[in-house]
Amino acid sequence: MTSPSAEHPYSHSILHATAVAHAPDFEAVVCDYCGSTAAESLGTLPPLDQLPFPMHRLGASALESGGQAIHFVRCRVCGLVYMTPRPTESAIARFYDTVYAASGAADAFESDQHERTNDLLDRTMPYLDGVSTPSLLDIGCGRGQFLVAAQQRGWRVYGSELSAVAARAASDHLGGVPIHHGDFRSMTLDDSLDMVSLLEVLEHLRAPVDYLRAAAGLIRPGGVLLLEVPNVASWEYYAARALRQDYRGFIIEHLYYFTPALMSRLLADLGLEVCHMSSRHATASLPNPLADLRALRPANSGESAGADAASPAGSISPLPPVSLPRKVLRQANNYLMDTISYLSQGPRINPRPAGNTLYVWGRKRSSSPRA
Ligand SMILES: [Zn+2]
Repeated sequence: MTSPSAEHPYSHSILHATAVAHAPDFEAVVCDYCGSTAAESLGTLPPLDQLPFPMHRLGASALESGGQAIHFVRCRVCGLVYMTPRPTESAIARFYDTVYAASGAADAFESDQHERTNDLLDRTMPYLDGVSTPSLLDIGCGRGQFLVAAQQRGWRVYGSELSAVAARAASDHLGGVPIHHGDFRSMTLDDSLDMVSLLEVLEHLRAPVDYLRAAAGLIRPGGVLLLEVPNVASWEYYAARALRQDYRGFIIEHLYYFTPALMSRLLADLGLEVCHMSSRHATASLPNPLADLRALRPANSGESAGADAASPAGSISPLPPVSLPRKVLRQANNYLMDTISYLSQGPRINPRPAGNTLYVWGRKRSSSPRA
């Protein structure tokens, strides 16, 4: 037997641990809401080359994790859920550049936004106090689907978008309405707004709380804030925990996750009261095992067969082959989670939003809350 201490005398020193703690593409962070570092891990991201979604695998191929575990943690003080360590700003830009450079990727990311826009507007109307032509700023408007639906109702629409390509597309869809390319905080608006929306935006940001505070500041007293965020307090999350599985909702592009309780507290801090919350399952249909039987053939094409019709052929590394029994088990588990998630949506007006995607309607108070 050799003595381990002779060869690696400093292998457990703090100095050594700090030096190798994080690869350059990843950085450890503290809670964005309360600044605490006290947190419990809720799960980890699979190794970057084994991410289940082909597009994520492609984007992650441009990143170097150094083999370290990437955790999703819940702040023990305020309950915010966040990724740490997470990709640095330049690393995440590289991730998106790689994904969007692949043809079809942008459409694949935005294809399901279209159908729910009118439903969201219908459900917002009762909170707008009969304003005939409300003004709406959609922050992170993408290609403008939400704004187009509002414009068709005669609303006055404003948008901001970080992607130049998407901003241009949105402006085209809106018949030339200018879309602010960049951070909305550099926009000049003549008046305070009847409504501000951030749909699938907060979870992508590096500092969502300050951003949301600035967004809330643009709303007139009595005006409406609409948010769409990932919901960790979902049946699907609790089922995954109970079965000791990784939660499917924890993905590399989402740096933050929320709960109804956290949202109530956060909105109150920002001078808003919650009017209503509801939730949905990201894919609102029941699974169909028969339709997927083809994908279970014991081919050696790895995981990419069947699942990624929108992916650019040849540019995504396939996962290692999986045995048929293992595939069947995995697929069965997916059906179970899909079913739980589908059922968790509840009725249209669900007092306990349990789906994996949370909607929050908040209304700006007439006077600021006491500090
Ligand atoms: Zn916190």
